[in-house]
Amino acid sequence: MFDLATPPAIEQTLRLGAAVAVSISGGKDSQSIIKAIAAHRAQHGWTGPVFAIHAHLGRAEWRESLPMCRRLAAANELDLAVVRRAQGDLFDQIVSRMHKKAGDGQPFWPGSVARYCTSDNKRGPIEKKLREFPLVISVEGIRAEESPARAKKPVAQVRERITTTKLKKAMLADAVRSWEPAAGRLALNWYPIHHWTEAEVYQYAGHSLDERNERWALYRAGRVEEALQGWQMHPAYIYGNDRVSCNACILASGNDLAVGARHNPAAFRFLRSLEVQSGFSFKNGSLEQVEGIVGRFPCPVCGVEAAFSYADAYWQTDCPACLTVYRLPAGWA
Ligand code: SF4
Repeated sequence: MFDLATPPAIEQTLRLGAAVAVSISGGKDSQSIIKAIAAHRAQHGWTGPVFAIHAHLGRAEWRESLPMCRRLAAANELDLAVVRRAQGDLFDQIVSRMHKKAGDGQPFWPGSVARYCTSDNKRGPIEKKLREFPLVISVEGIRAEESPARAKKPVAQVRERITTTKLKKAMLADAVRSWEPAAGRLALNWYPIHHWTEAEVYQYAGHSLDERNERWALYRAGRVEEALQGWQMHPAYIYGNDRVSCNACILASGNDLAVGARHNPAAFRFLRSLEVQSGFSFKNGSLEQVEGIVGRFPCPVCGVEAAFSYADAYWQTDCPACLTVYRLPAGWA
C-alpha cells in the first residue's frame, strides 16, 4: 500500500540528477503526490532539484486552491513555482475566443475537442518552466481509476513536445540510456500513483472517504465550523465536490458545477453572462440548469420565506421583508 510505481528508467533518470517538477492543483491527488514524492526523495536522496509547480488559471480557480498549493509545498518543504498564461487568465481567453468566433457560428467554449483551457493555461506555462532543465521529470497525480483514457496511460513516458528531436521518438529506456547533457533536453512524464484508489488517496492525505462523508453531512446540516475543523484537504470536498479542478470545469458533473457555482458566484455569473450574450452554452445548457436550481428559506427573524438560486447568494443575504441579514444553511440546495 502507498508504494510508488517507479519504472527502472525513472530510477535511472533520478540517479542522473534530473529535475523533478511535481504538478499540484490543490486537489486530493496532488496532495498525495507531493507528500509521496517528498517522502521518496528523503528516502532515496535524489541529487537533482525537486519543486512543486502550480498552473494558475486566475478567476477560473477556486479561491482556496492557490493557498492550498502554497500550504502543500511548505508542508513538504518544496519550493512552489506558480505559472500562468502570459496573455491573461482562462476567462480572458474565453472572452477573446468569443469575440474572434462571433459571426462564424462556431462555439468558443473549451471542450473535449478544443481543450485549449488545458493546453494554453496549464500545459504551455508548465512546459515553459520545464524547458529550463536539460533533464526533467514532470510528476503528475493521474490515476487509472479516474477514467478509461487515464487507465491506458503508461506510468512513465517521454514527453515528446519538449524533448530534443533525436530522443523524442525513442522508447523510454532507450531515451534515458542515450541521453547525455550535450544531446539536448530529455523530458519525461511520470505518474507514480497511477494504481492508487480514491480511498488510498484520502487515507494518505490523512483522512478517509467515510470521514469526508461524515463531515459533508455536518456541513449540509449547517455545522460549518465543525465540518471544517481539522480538515487538511481542499475544503471543496466538504462543500460537496467529488473532484476539485476549475470552479466550473467543462468535464465536471452536474453536482460539481452546482457546488462550484454556489461557492464561486462571481465566476458563475460571468460564465453564465457569456452564455446569454453569445447564445452558446458552456456545456449542454448546464449553467442555465444550475442557475435554475432554487430553494426557499424562512427568515430566522420574521419567518418570511424567500427563494434563492445558486447564483443568488453565497453565505448571507437580506430578508426581503424585515431586511435582517442572515446566513443560508450550508449545502442548502
Ligand atoms: S479543470 Fe476543466 S475547465 Fe479547467 S483546465 Fe482542466 S479541463 Fe479545462
